[in-house]
Amino acid sequence: MAGGDSGGSRKSGGGAGQRGSCLCGGVVYRIRGPLRDVIECHCTACRKTTGHYLAATQAWTDDFELEAADGLRWYASGPHSRRGFCDRCGATLFFEFTGSGKISIAAGTLDGKTGLKTAFSIYADDKGDYYDLPDRLLFPAESDNRAPLPPREG
Ligand SMILES: [Zn+2]
Ligand SMILES: [Zn+2]
Repeated sequence: MAGGDSGGSRKSGGGAGQRGSCLCGGVVYRIRGPLRDVIECHCTACRKTTGHYLAATQAWTDDFELEAADGLRWYASGPHSRRGFCDRCGATLFFEFTGSGKISIAAGTLDGKTGLKTAFSIYADDKGDYYDLPDRLLFPAESDNRAPLPPREG
């Protein structure tokens, strides 16, 4: 995936972009494009893989670049989805629907200030019984199940 660098000039774009990394620093990534607001997913799979629930932003895959991938492993969590994690420190990092053109990124792995906010929660019915969700995060069932990812600029 990302990082092909054929031509080698992708890194000269100027804008620093948002950077992120895992706990041990083996996996480092950068996003040179818009990030979606954070959505909390309380589905069973996200709960199992994170140990709690997944709070994730999202980026266009074309804007996503791996600067280091030591320890990055992908787990096929379903026929059309995979989850990226670090096999050195155990960090939950990424989630992808194959071919979607988007990558979800565990918000806690972003470095520094993000400027993002938490939009809402999904799969609240699957959440653990040991915590509560504030009403503002409950997703209205009659709406689409997606928060928009801002379009790329050129
Ligand atoms: Zn790591
Ligand atoms: Zn989930």
